Amino acid sequence: MPAPGSADHGGLNSSRVRDRMVDRVRELGVRDPRVLDAMRSVPRHLFVDEALASRAYEDTALPIGHGQTISQPYIVARIAELALEGIADPRAARLLEVGTGCGYAAAVMAQLFGDVVSIERLRALHDRARENLRPLRLPNLRLVFGDGNRGVAAGAPYDAIVAAAAGDELPPAWIEQLKPGGRIVAPVGALHQQLIVAIKDASGRVQKTGKEAVRFVPLRGGVG
Ligand code: SAH
Repeated sequence: MPAPGSADHGGLNSSRVRDRMVDRVRELGVRDPRVLDAMRSVPRHLFVDEALASRAYEDTALPIGHGQTISQPYIVARIAELALEGIADPRAARLLEVGTGCGYAAAVMAQLFGDVVSIERLRALHDRARENLRPLRLPNLRLVFGDGNRGVAAGAPYDAIVAAAAGDELPPAWIEQLKPGGRIVAPVGALHQQLIVAIKDASGRVQKTGKEAVRFVPLRGGVG
């Protein structure tokens, strides 16, 4: 039910549309109930432009301005599932997200992990994410403006680092800021991108596994 006094956005506040989106994500293979619950609880229509709100629960990426996109729900869920694997107590875990965009995935991750830091290099999107996230009141989520290639040293070390933008390789800062045993879930590659999981062992070495072909916006340097 919409809160008293709030617009109901043409039925988008109803849980039915969200349930259908989650059914689709499950059909595509994401089975972790924690992830599916998190996807059910975050109102994705609050993160897209009014003009696109009616499409907010389709399993598709949508433009958010500045040449960027809100990730496809399946991809957000898949990354969350891969990040959770091997973390005994996610509620006690710290996660860094590179590429806040409109803030949707950050909100999903904040349902799952104890502490979430999310960095964005475009000021306009960083500000927009802050606005989008305000009504959700997530005290365990911190937004940072800056170049995520350098990670966010102030919040390190992390149990997991996830990225929503693809570089040619993993930035060394991410590996440095990861706990031993921690994992990075990120798209890597230029023309052909792969979603990879990189696990850091006790000696600091990283073991990478390719998961599936994906298409993300590029990981850029500097801020804008
Ligand atoms: N997480 C978002 C996806 C946003 S798209 C979601 O919930 O849908 C990826 C974002 O990564 C873009 O906003 C882009 O500006 C940002 N990005 C690209 N390179 C970056 C970098 N080096 N540091 C931080 N953010 C970066």
